[in-house]
Amino acid sequence: MSHYIDVILPIPVENLFTYVITEAEAGFLKAGMRVAVPFGKTKVYTAVVKTIHTNAPLKYEAKQIHQILDETPIVTETQLRLWDWMANYYLCAVGDVMRAALPNAFILESETLISKNKDKVICDTDLKDDEFLIYEALQHQSSLRIQDIVDIVDRKQVFPIIKRLLEKEAIVVEEEVFEKYKPKLVKYVKLQNQHTTQSGLQQLLEDLSRAPKQRDVVMSLFQLSAKTKKAIKVSELTEASGASNSIIKSLIDKSVLEEYFIQTDRVEFDGKASEASKALNTEQTEALHQIKTSFETHQVTLLHGVTSSGKTEVYVKLIEAVLKTGKQVLYLLPEIALTTQLVNRLQIYFGEQVAVFHSKYSAHERVEVWNNVLSNAPKAQVVLGARSSIFLPFKSLGLIIVDEEHEQSFKQFDPAPRYHARDSAVVLAHFHGAKTLLGSATPSLESYFNVQQRKYGLVEITKRYNNVLMPDIELIDIKDKHKRKLMKGHFSDRMIQVMAETLEEGHQIILFQNRRGFSPIVECNTCGHSPQCPNCDVSLTFHSYRNQLRCHYCGYNIAKPLKCQACGDTALDTKGFGTEQIEEEVKQLFPNHKAGRMDLDTTRGKYGYEKIITAFEQQEMDILVGTQMLTKGLDFRNVALVGIMNADNLLNFPDFRAHERSYQLLSQVSGRAGRTEKQGKVLIQTYNPFHNILQQVSTNNYVAMYKEQMDERYNFKYPPVYRLIRVTLKHKDFNRVNTASVWLGTALRQVFGDYVLGPVDPPVARIRNQFHKNILIKIPSKQSLGGTKKAIVKINNSFMNVKDFRSVRLILNVDAY
Ligand code: ADP
Ligand code: ZN
Repeated sequence: MSHYIDVILPIPVENLFTYVITEAEAGFLKAGMRVAVPFGKTKVYTAVVKTIHTNAPLKYEAKQIHQILDETPIVTETQLRLWDWMANYYLCAVGDVMRAALPNAFILESETLISKNKDKVICDTDLKDDEFLIYEALQHQSSLRIQDIVDIVDRKQVFPIIKRLLEKEAIVVEEEVFEKYKPKLVKYVKLQNQHTTQSGLQQLLEDLSRAPKQRDVVMSLFQLSAKTKKAIKVSELTEASGASNSIIKSLIDKSVLEEYFIQTDRVEFDGKASEASKALNTEQTEALHQIKTSFETHQVTLLHGVTSSGKTEVYVKLIEAVLKTGKQVLYLLPEIALTTQLVNRLQIYFGEQVAVFHSKYSAHERVEVWNNVLSNAPKAQVVLGARSSIFLPFKSLGLIIVDEEHEQSFKQFDPAPRYHARDSAVVLAHFHGAKTLLGSATPSLESYFNVQQRKYGLVEITKRYNNVLMPDIELIDIKDKHKRKLMKGHFSDRMIQVMAETLEEGHQIILFQNRRGFSPIVECNTCGHSPQCPNCDVSLTFHSYRNQLRCHYCGYNIAKPLKCQACGDTALDTKGFGTEQIEEEVKQLFPNHKAGRMDLDTTRGKYGYEKIITAFEQQEMDILVGTQMLTKGLDFRNVALVGIMNADNLLNFPDFRAHERSYQLLSQVSGRAGRTEKQGKVLIQTYNPFHNILQQVSTNNYVAMYKEQMDERYNFKYPPVYRLIRVTLKHKDFNRVNTASVWLGTALRQVFGDYVLGPVDPPVARIRNQFHKNILIKIPSKQSLGGTKKAIVKINNSFMNVKDFRSVRLILNVDAY
């Protein structure tokens, strides 16, 4: 009797593949282990074992596997179940899910590039002979494809050797993304121990009496570190002492200073929990009690608590209770930007039990977290992470918290699987028999709808912690202000007046503008032409900082032209406005105060956010201008005023969720105001102060917003009443994408009738020289997806059989945002 395994390959194919294994291998292999398998003529893939059986495949002769890569499963049965669910629900290949789920270092394939790890010193004696062969080859060539290594060592040995080299940190798997986000090492120095005593220091200063510059450095270092009692950044030291790097180097060579490197983007933390969690107030206690009761009858409960009502402290109590039962907790957040503040907060209570899973962590760090979670290590009892952390190999989850559950960044846009982490979390928790708590001050209509349908429980906190009042929200009619010439740039007289008062009182200000760049577009006053991206159907955006025009879709950029490209006139004007321009105007209006900016342009890299957030927290800035990044749950103590420069471009966004989103954004950004004793002030500038959404925001009336929006969703058949599947077709040839989309629209209409809309052009119909067409399928959300999926897959298959369409990219997005 022969033995076989079905494996998942990390590629977008529908099926599993079957390989033949020996009897011995069959005794050893388990589902969730990795194997290296041959594929096609030359390829080698890392595959994950799904099932072990004795049925030979009917259509092809099974090949042998190359090698078993794990001693025990690295993927759990529950994960395999989640992968299946995801592939099914989001209409993608399980291989797509595997690729998204596993840290890249786990999925080696023939094309993977490896290179020497330059940060690690490896002695020849550290390596076995075969390992050395590969390492040696990397001396001569900066990187190698795994495929090429087959020539160096026995084919069957390739993967095990690579794996061992990775474990020894001798090599790194190369990937652009990792290169870009490679942990930044910052050089620190401190005095060697023998010089830190009183007498030691005196002796040292005497020894250096003939080298005054070096002496100055030691003095500066001493002064700086007396304050912080820590090692000092070299950059800080050179600045304080005025010494050059070479002077510092000579002190290191002389063993006066000791140098070391600290990875700046890992959260520094000394391990121990330092405080007991806070006692809850009456509202929080009541909410905690209600959540526990709700969990008795509901797997999912929504905590709807106004901004600053103290939801986090309630989560903390729930986490404590779950940890006591020996189970793990997953804490999902929409964005990395939030983690720093929250990690600090959780580590105070839970110490080392908190693990953070960053998508921007290096390959190695991610493997580390993976292994800790898998072994249920004490170090990973509470995992904090953005959407991809639902893929971690939890052994026994007790609770998943989805904080800021309304955030759209929980939905993955590209590539497949285009999953929603909140909805997937609910499924994952269900598989574990765990509970899910969704938290928000402005719940998604989806979640609130589920509450109305009695699928989810609901718990509310309507007061802010410590009886702090909800901010006072004032709407400013800028149409009227313009008419009466009461605007300075984009600032109304009222805005300027309240800003001045706020600064006078020593409080800080946040200004919200939902666009980055200086002013979105440049327009010729004479002929009206505005420069377009050559690759995409959009106007270029002006960024004054670099004096550039840039495409926000493909990154294309040019220097700002002096003349109109169409008519040659020099009367180029800027239209609309962005964060950069607001910052500039603020600086002119309040030259004696410091203003800063937080948007995609100023926060690139992992470190960007933290720098700005910290600077603002420590009040090194008085006014912070930013995009929606500012709205995300940040807790700044001293902000008394939030100004929204223009609410209208949010409200008028062409999307069925625009009103819901405006409500959420405006309420969330308003929630940053007055989080301590003083009641915060919010000023919203708008051309349309009687807009229902603005009225609902200013009266904090979520339920009114919900009801009105739901009426529209019912009437126009949109989520959460209907489920949306968006089909996007892409091709570089406009005619081909056009024909293909008409064909597909007709085919879909034959099955789904009027529930099919389109094909239509998306708002930006060409991106990176690819033409796009969209088709929407609406399915009543009560209807099961099973039949729908079968129908779509069938249509999809016949689509692919049309020769002309084979090169058309077809993208399915279930629950599209
Ligand atoms: P939310 O997440 O609901 O916006 P937070 O959890 O950030 O609110 O709480 C708002 C502020 O109130 C925070 O600064 C927090 O430290 C403080 N706070 C909340 N609950 C308590 C408590 N029980 N004891 C002391 N401070 C609390
Ligand atoms: Zn472009």
